[in-house]
Amino acid sequence: MSEKERNYRVGVIRGDGIGPEIVSEALRVLDAASERFGFRLEYVPMDLGGCSIDKYGVPLTEETIRLAKSCDAVLMGSIGGDPRTSPWYQLEPSKRPEAGLLGIRKALGLFANLRFSVLYDDLKDACPLRKDIADEGIDFVILRELTGGLYFGEKKTETINGEERATDVLAYSASEIRRIAVKAYDTAMLRRRKLTLVDKANVLESSRLWRKVVGEVAKDYPQVETDYMYVDNAAMQLIRRPSQFDVVLTENMFGDILSDEASMVTGSIGMQPSASLAEGTFGLYEPSHGSAPDIAGTDKANPLATILSVACMLRYSLGEEEAAAAIEKAVIESISRIRTQDLKAEGDGTRLVGCTEMGSYVAGQISAV
Ligand code: NAD
Repeated sequence: MSEKERNYRVGVIRGDGIGPEIVSEALRVLDAASERFGFRLEYVPMDLGGCSIDKYGVPLTEETIRLAKSCDAVLMGSIGGDPRTSPWYQLEPSKRPEAGLLGIRKALGLFANLRFSVLYDDLKDACPLRKDIADEGIDFVILRELTGGLYFGEKKTETINGEERATDVLAYSASEIRRIAVKAYDTAMLRRRKLTLVDKANVLESSRLWRKVVGEVAKDYPQVETDYMYVDNAAMQLIRRPSQFDVVLTENMFGDILSDEASMVTGSIGMQPSASLAEGTFGLYEPSHGSAPDIAGTDKANPLATILSVACMLRYSLGEEEAAAAIEKAVIESISRIRTQDLKAEGDGTRLVGCTEMGSYVAGQISAV
């Protein structure tokens, strides 16, 4: 790639709660990576969520959408406050912080959500699974379809013969399935080249269409091994033998449930990056956790999920694989020596640090490579 093409516009949503703290550390690491690997970055700040409500009275503005669309990718901290005490939650639901997140996903056409589950050797004690299972290794990603299926299908409650009856429609078109299947195979090509489609094709017509379309897309990726699994079995296998998974592709509701199950398997909320991708290479990258208002402003937050989200952004949106791998390596090196309070265990031989020191340490590792 020419030098000219290695200039990237990165949208930055610092957000609420611990958001500004963890994003500052992630940008420190991204700066170190750009310096070390010779690409240039332009940061484009934008507001979303509670901080947007405070400034403009709404959680998402047209200006944020316009700015985000002008970027190659967007990095986000997290948004929202404590629903029990924050005035943002006195507003009607469509004006609350989370409405901004749903709005930006829709406006940017983010139809594929990726949640990464990795068990790091140094954090094996945090894994709730049996040691022999954890020792086989855990490193998989769940691709969840984000804009279709049961959550977006027609809904109604009617009274028939004096009895209430409720209906939610689970509908997918072939094109909706195809575009996420392509994303999933492209993701598999950057990983261990194994894809598992999770469905309920023994009973659901929509699942049978998923199998048909995914089977067609699979022909364009002969290097990827494709495997099919019913969702009930997948829920068991994630616990029985998670090492068998690389890329898991599934529809919206199954993905909602399985990705939460997956987040427990690695045991550490402060370590899970996520991405929401649109057509092409654009994506919005954020940690899987929330804005942790209980520890905001105390320098206790773990910035690693956001730093790992930066690695995902470099890999999946900007095509800077070397820099992505260097960040992941630096994170692994860092947790062998220092830990934030959420990861720290008695006698683990590491030193307790705050958010800022963790970010500086990881950035220092990149510069030292
Ligand atoms: P949370 O993930 O913010 O916090 C749950 C617990 O984990 C808290 O004890 C918190 O201190 C801890 N925690 C979370 N991230 C941490 C980190 N990086 N380092 C150390 N500890 C961390 O979930 P919650 O308390 O249910 O939600 C708080 C707010 O975040 C709510 O407003 C919620 O709607 C919002 N939220 C936002 C997103 C998002 O921006 N995508 C996602 C989930 C929740």
